Amino acid sequence: MKTYLLAILCCFFLSAHAQSDLALVGARIYPAPGTPPIADGVVLINNGKITAVGSRQQVKVPPQLRVIDCKGLVLMAGFWNSHVHFMSPVWEHADSLPAAQLTAQLTDMLTSHGFTHAFDLATLNFRNLRALRDRVRSGEVDGPAILSAGEPFVPPNGSPFYVRPIKLPEISTPAAAVAYVKKQLDAGTDAIKIWSASPVGNGKVVSMPIDIVKAATTTAHQYHKLVFAHPTSDTGMRIAVAGGVDILAHVAPDGYTPWKQADVDLLRQHHVAVIPTLKLFKWELEREKVASPEDHPLVKTAIAQIGMFAKGGGEILFGTDVGYISDFNTEDEFRFLATAGLTFDQILASLTTAPAKRFGMSQQCGRVAKGLDADLVLLKADPHANASNFAAVAYTIKKGKVIYDAGTSHK
Ligand SMILES: [Zn+2]
Repeated sequence: MKTYLLAILCCFFLSAHAQSDLALVGARIYPAPGTPPIADGVVLINNGKITAVGSRQQVKVPPQLRVIDCKGLVLMAGFWNSHVHFMSPVWEHADSLPAAQLTAQLTDMLTSHGFTHAFDLATLNFRNLRALRDRVRSGEVDGPAILSAGEPFVPPNGSPFYVRPIKLPEISTPAAAVAYVKKQLDAGTDAIKIWSASPVGNGKVVSMPIDIVKAATTTAHQYHKLVFAHPTSDTGMRIAVAGGVDILAHVAPDGYTPWKQADVDLLRQHHVAVIPTLKLFKWELEREKVASPEDHPLVKTAIAQIGMFAKGGGEILFGTDVGYISDFNTEDEFRFLATAGLTFDQILASLTTAPAKRFGMSQQCGRVAKGLDADLVLLKADPHANASNFAAVAYTIKKGKVIYDAGTSHK
């Protein structure tokens, strides 16, 4: 009986290991931004971790290891999308929806676009978000690791017009902000999200009083957590910076004012990172049936702001606001980043090393290196030549498990 049990246990462990034991052979590997690529490379994966990276000559593939032939593909660390939402009704009842349905929805929105990590930048139901996050974390649902900024807050009468009829929680005093932030973080959120200036319709913007912003950031920082702000315009950008916010959730093009060197210097001095979400502005104009949205000053200002910020060495975290925007394709975002003047290395950093560092996970992910989690993406074509190829995903691998395979997917 004991032998029988042992045999079952052995089989279980062997199969569990075999799941994530893998050799990726023949790809062009970009180990990290600024590092020369390895042509005809090999990555070995054992138990969810990268155990070897090198050229075919340097790394011998052990016999009997499962091999994926990656000839013609381009391999890099799995991508971060640092601005997403799970607000659509399809995510409701995340605790009880079938795992296969959640996996399919995550594939559609994130996994098929190469994302192995996603930061939720506001939910109206953190309990539901946490259920989704935990089911991915346990391995029951396949998808990117999810972090969350929890339930956001706005200044009094500051619910943005674009979420109507929904009203976001309003905070009117610093003491209330402290209590609200503590409640969010105690519930298990990874960050805090505010609107430092909020568009309320007809071009009107409601600013958050600076002492409320400061109360929120001081409290979050005591917990060693970050604060994201939706800036809307230059005013909101300045309030965010002065209030100690860590990350702007978007550029701030609503006033059609391109950033000047002084703005870039200000953001850099305060160590503020920016998530571009350039495609969002085009998507909003399309929704309003504006002709030639890419020629509109809103899109042009957004692109100019991130271009200036990149040129000045600012820290950029890739993000698209998917889940708010219903078009999940990432190609436009990459095309706009290239138009803004970002280099291949800058775009790759925004997808990998920059978020891994900013969110304190550099020792875990963000590079293709021995000892790190096997969170990887394989592209069908090299984005070094054309940034749009960052969108051409062949495989997404999370801790050694293939969670997206374009060859077998119906998409
Ligand atoms: Zn958003």
